[in-house]
Amino acid sequence: MKITVDHGLCDGLGQCALVAPEVFALDDEERLVVAPEAARGSAGKVAAAARACPVRAISVEGS
Ligand code: SF4
Repeated sequence: MKITVDHGLCDGLGQCALVAPEVFALDDEERLVVAPEAARGSAGKVAAAARACPVRAISVEGS
């Protein structure tokens, strides 16, 4: 699974981190940090997180 975040679109409010906190988190500067290795076995949650993103900043390829 390849997870790409468009940081130019990301608003840093963390909807994705609420849905899949093991994969998406915000650092101290509210910049999104992705842990793709944690996404193994969580394809459904990652897809839900991408859908939850209000600006469609998350792209997911593969499974
Ligand atoms: S939901 Fe989208 S805009 Fe919000 S922090 Fe996550 S990637 Fe960024």
